[in-house]
Amino acid sequence: MVSRVIPVDTFDLVIFGGTGDLARRKILPGLFRRFCSGQMPDEARIIGAARTDFDSKGYRNLVAEAIAEFGGKTLADCADLPRFLERLEYIKIDARGDEGWADLRDMIRNDVITAYYFSVGPGLFGDLAQRLNSWKIATSDSRIVVEKPFGRDLTTAKELNASLAAEFDETQIYRIDHYLGKETVQNLMAIRFGNLLFEPLWNSQYIDHIQISVAESVGVGGRGAYYDKSGAMRDMVQNHLMQLLCLIAMEPPSKFDPDAVRDEKLKVIRALEPVEPHELVRGQYSEGPEGPSYREEAGDPKTFTESYVALKAKIANWRWSGVPFYLRTGKRLKARASEIAVVFKKLPHSIFGDEGDEGQNILAIHLQPNEGITLDVTIKEPGPGGMRLAHVPLDMTFAETLGDQAEDAPDAYERLIMDVIRGNQTLFMRGDEVEAAWAWTDPIIEGWQRRNDVPKLYDAGSSGPDDALALLHRDLRKWRDIEP
Ligand code: NAD
Repeated sequence: MVSRVIPVDTFDLVIFGGTGDLARRKILPGLFRRFCSGQMPDEARIIGAARTDFDSKGYRNLVAEAIAEFGGKTLADCADLPRFLERLEYIKIDARGDEGWADLRDMIRNDVITAYYFSVGPGLFGDLAQRLNSWKIATSDSRIVVEKPFGRDLTTAKELNASLAAEFDETQIYRIDHYLGKETVQNLMAIRFGNLLFEPLWNSQYIDHIQISVAESVGVGGRGAYYDKSGAMRDMVQNHLMQLLCLIAMEPPSKFDPDAVRDEKLKVIRALEPVEPHELVRGQYSEGPEGPSYREEAGDPKTFTESYVALKAKIANWRWSGVPFYLRTGKRLKARASEIAVVFKKLPHSIFGDEGDEGQNILAIHLQPNEGITLDVTIKEPGPGGMRLAHVPLDMTFAETLGDQAEDAPDAYERLIMDVIRGNQTLFMRGDEVEAAWAWTDPIIEGWQRRNDVPKLYDAGSSGPDDALALLHRDLRKWRDIEP
């Protein structure tokens, strides 16, 4: 298979917060990779804009260091760094004042695509949007990219949406959820809608249940105080897990087009039933050999914020009636592993008698650390000894199946940034989707607050609190192992 890199049109991309952690860790190394692959044209420019005192030379040094630190091994082999650095400029700017805006206006070219990445706290989104227009920098073709957290509840999400909508049309707003930029997540759509095989089985008649797990082995570490204001429900479930659930559960859109896809995702979120308190588990990690307890890292010995959530979601429509979606996510668990598992029903009748523990077919979409897809099937165990059955995975681990191509596959951020330049919003969240997700999440969080709910402690390095195991045991099911 030959990989095809189609260059995008020339652009000016302004990264507000261009000196920050996200820009250094993800955005700039990602852009360099696209440059090395030939996708970013030579005339394109990246303009860092932040409060730090830098000139363009100082900024280029910062970016070179960031690429060396976070770029990974493929980037170390790319000889194009000096040429890439020449594409970089820097402007010292104040999102809340006048400093830097006239310089930015003079620098932006009006005959190329312009995109503005808001890699700053959400408290600055409205200020940036407003100044981009009042300084007549943005045009009706410009795109703005905003990062999570997109609100901390329905009210704040609506306020944020309104502050952006006052300045930009929804077709110009790109709300990033980097999970949607992952190769396997897109492959999930290719598998569902590009094969005849799965879609006829994709319903309550054949699917027993679905598990969506996003497990991290690290704790909150130095981000403890910041994380403590949100917790796993806001930080992971409302956005990343919800997006994965939508892609699994949505009806086939009539075409692969931004609004057709997002309309179907929205219908799923709106069809979610409220979650009952007994179908919800929240946890907090205790101290262990790997590090201090959550409370210590959060700097608050009494905090009730959760570092773990497990829940049973139900979708009230014909396709999914009676099929639970079990969601779980947590920090300081036994491994870093994220996957979606579609567990099919047992056979209605076994012709193999006592030998016939056929198991269940499971389609597992592995998101990290190794992206790939497996399909567990039953076969006859090879060799003599009668009809013995074995369950084996048909394995499409991308690194093995696609070789160098998988190695060179763009990271989620760079893929999404190129989509912004192309003007393709399919993999970005629409404002109404974000609000609907908060409308479902808010009562869960409010319920915890009202009941003064105390999270269950779980051992660092374990699979989470025992109550989460019980959540599935009660339904005569069990979680899949968290394995890297
Ligand atoms: P950071 O604190 O490291 O960087 C903030 C940047 O904003 C700096 O460049 C700073 O100079 C700039 N800035 C702050 N106030 C400004 C002002 N008044 N005018 C102009 N520039 C100003 O933050 P970060 O970790 O890079 O995160 C940026 C955004 O991305 C946040 O909304 C965060 O929640 C989100 N995010 C970050 C990560 C991550 O991995 N760091 C992941 C997902 C989402």
